[in-house]
Amino acid sequence: MLPVSGLLLAVRGPSSDDELMVLETDAPPPLAVIELGRRVARNVDGSDLDWDGLPASDAAAVALTIRQAWMGDLLTTASSCDAAACGERVDVSFHIAAYLEHHRPEVPGGVSSAREPGWFALDGSEARFRIPTVGDLVTALSGPDSPSALMDACIVPSSLSPAEVEQVDAALAALAPTLDGMVEGVCPRCGATLQLRFDPCSYVLAELRDLFAGIYYEIHLLARSHGWSEHDILVMPWSRRIHYAHLAAADKAAV
Ligand SMILES: [Zn+2]
Repeated sequence: MLPVSGLLLAVRGPSSDDELMVLETDAPPPLAVIELGRRVARNVDGSDLDWDGLPASDAAAVALTIRQAWMGDLLTTASSCDAAACGERVDVSFHIAAYLEHHRPEVPGGVSSAREPGWFALDGSEARFRIPTVGDLVTALSGPDSPSALMDACIVPSSLSPAEVEQVDAALAALAPTLDGMVEGVCPRCGATLQLRFDPCSYVLAELRDLFAGIYYEIHLLARSHGWSEHDILVMPWSRRIHYAHLAAADKAAV
């Protein structure tokens, strides 16, 4: 479940077009994830999602949900031990479901729902605010001054004191917690504790790029060995393409 919107997603398997999109997009990671989500995910009842209205912080949960569907719930991220003269590889494994559960949003004290749907009010202040959406994020990232554009769209009035802005920021962090965070690992060699940064959108895109990296070679191999066009190969189901590519590679090796 996406933590902030509470939506349940149904994710279909990747097509060749999806693989190429993941490999070739140069969009910022959260927007690349949303683009992938628009292609492969729907509400669990089969209806279309309002992607532009989705809380921006749910983009990371979309990444993790797609990853769960395609590669499973258990995730392993790795780093090197930074203790002096150690450098041992440290793997940190955790379950996506547990990670999402750990980052559940909550309504902090001193915050109530405002009259306008989707807006909140800070008690004892004029401040009104709402959770930034994917639509806000797209607009902000395409403009010259993204943090302030995002703030102008989601927090009113503009005359708030720095203390009020700080309170609103803290409230938003509780209502729509970021899934970017630190995960802890222990070095198997020296026992040092390590904090690893985990950014779900970048992490999942990197993993998918590894998973899909073979597509160019497979297209090349099948086009050469069978004379099939790129289009014929791309419309093939993923499992069949891999299977044919293995056969073609075996033929090539036997020559
Ligand atoms: Zn170590």
